[in-house]
Amino acid sequence: MGFAEGKNCCAIVLAAGVGKRMNSHTPKQFMLLEDKPLLYYSLKTFQDSFIEKIILVTGAEEIEYCQEHIVDCYEFNKVQAVVAGGKERYHSVYEGLKAAEGCDYVFIHDGARPFVNHEMLKRAYEAVEKTGACVVGVKAKDTIKVADDQNFVVETPNRNYLWQVQTPQVFEYSVIKQAHEMVMDRTDIVITDDAFVYECAFGKPVKLVEGDYRNIKITTPEDMLVAKAFLQGMKRD
Ligand code: C5P
Repeated sequence: MGFAEGKNCCAIVLAAGVGKRMNSHTPKQFMLLEDKPLLYYSLKTFQDSFIEKIILVTGAEEIEYCQEHIVDCYEFNKVQAVVAGGKERYHSVYEGLKAAEGCDYVFIHDGARPFVNHEMLKRAYEAVEKTGACVVGVKAKDTIKVADDQNFVVETPNRNYLWQVQTPQVFEYSVIKQAHEMVMDRTDIVITDDAFVYECAFGKPVKLVEGDYRNIKITTPEDMLVAKAFLQGMKRD
């Protein structure tokens, strides 16, 4: 039997938002990494994986560009829809969820993370089958401090229990869609990842799965330099 056979897995790849911290006119997801747009790399990994379909979420003005210059140009035939995102990341996720109707498991991924790989997709699939909700991440290397609004340290959590979470974040489809509907309008929380939506909605634990230190999110200009170095290293491996 093939990997994930009998289960319909869908990836939602997020490429909306303005990426203000990049200081660039081109949205970061379309900036070139070597000779290809950043967004190419994660789409290529999903296209070549056990994932059956991909929903691409981008800015309303960039749908045509994405369809023509990325989806058609690189023949990503698993991309079934290119839809417009929303104001915050979780609004974009919800638009993607609506377009992914009917799948069993959904892999929510930042298009700004080019180095998602097949090993972490498999680990995440195995975990979500058991637990219904998992997130890839890596153990924190640095000590992390919690600060107050005057930048004074108020707490130093034990590093052995700290993880930096990445994407993909993977869930049973109907459960994460319901979670978004329950939490969407709350103004008392700041939602920066999908697991938090699930935690707030149901109070149930999300499983952490080993990601990769190279699975970085391109956020500021120096991240592009790091990404170039990783890419060259991967070609040599
Ligand atoms: O802004 P941030 O770096 O947290 O974005 C993470 C991912 O979410 C990026 O791939 C970005 O394109 C996406 N995003 C989105 N819609 C938004 C904001 C961010 O799809 N409104």
